[in-house]
Amino acid sequence: MSDTKSLEIETVVRLLSKTPRATRSARYEDCSAIVARHLKDGSEFLFALIRAAIEAGVHQTNLIEDSVSFLDDAHLARLAFFLQAEVKRGVDVEDLLAHVALQVPELFPDSTLGSIPDFEDWRTHDDPRSPPACHHFIFERGAPSDMSFPTHRNHPTWHLPATDPSFAIGGEGTTTCPACGNALAHLVTLDDLGGQAGILPRLRLETCRDSLEPTYYYHDVTGVPTQVAPFHSPNDFTSEPANRKSIARLARTPQRWLRQSYGISNSRQNLFRLGGLPSWVQGPQFPRVPGTDREMKFLLQFDSLAGFFWGSGGMLYVFWDEESRITCHVPQYT
Ligand SMILES: [Zn+2]
Repeated sequence: MSDTKSLEIETVVRLLSKTPRATRSARYEDCSAIVARHLKDGSEFLFALIRAAIEAGVHQTNLIEDSVSFLDDAHLARLAFFLQAEVKRGVDVEDLLAHVALQVPELFPDSTLGSIPDFEDWRTHDDPRSPPACHHFIFERGAPSDMSFPTHRNHPTWHLPATDPSFAIGGEGTTTCPACGNALAHLVTLDDLGGQAGILPRLRLETCRDSLEPTYYYHDVTGVPTQVAPFHSPNDFTSEPANRKSIARLARTPQRWLRQSYGISNSRQNLFRLGGLPSWVQGPQFPRVPGTDREMKFLLQFDSLAGFFWGSGGMLYVFWDEESRITCHVPQYT
């Protein structure tokens, strides 16, 4: 490690340690700028920084936790073992440990994973250590423009290698909501994905942004939706019209990002996902097909970014039932 790099690590740790907290945001920006210089190929620097932050007791900040995402595989593995040793010494590295465990669960024993809230559901899968396959929606312009921090904008999940075809995300829907009369928002139209995402239904997904509860839509043979009863209850909530349109492609999700936690990822990592495991805001909520006890299949999830905003800020989960051709849209928020 060069003298300049060591000095930069000292600077970040010193700025994060300083009081009072009133001047914290300015200092935090300085720290972000230093870290940003090392996001690409700076694994050795980031690993040394994380260790120094733990030694100084300033590791419980987003900046240090987000740095974990930029470590290469070798440094990530070193950090996994280092943190487990710190736990044995009685050091509180719980949040960092959760970040690392999400990315490399294979390096942690069952007992550790079982104690992390994000793994609450993990034993319910056929193979807990291999979550189901997933794809990420990759926006043509990279991370959405509403993200400010370099560790967020540059997060690997926004920049996974994606392949054609491209398709439109966002914009206005074709129909109005029978409950509130507002125009539906277009999420995405799933069609002609070249078989890369497996067998996908041809569906035009449109949703009422003013619904704070699960809402059901029937899709005709061409995929066009019609909202079905029970309609959402009247409420005072009115969201801003969502007219922003984006172009996206799909990327197969690498092993490292198969499991993403809403709590430690929202507005930081890309949570626009097709298939795989939902990143729940409020815990598992699998809807059933109306009038039956048949559980619906998780199809995709959208975060509150890129022109979308759910409830007070949260996620929208879409579920699908092939037999009835019904989707259920479940918002969860903080
Ligand atoms: Zn509505």
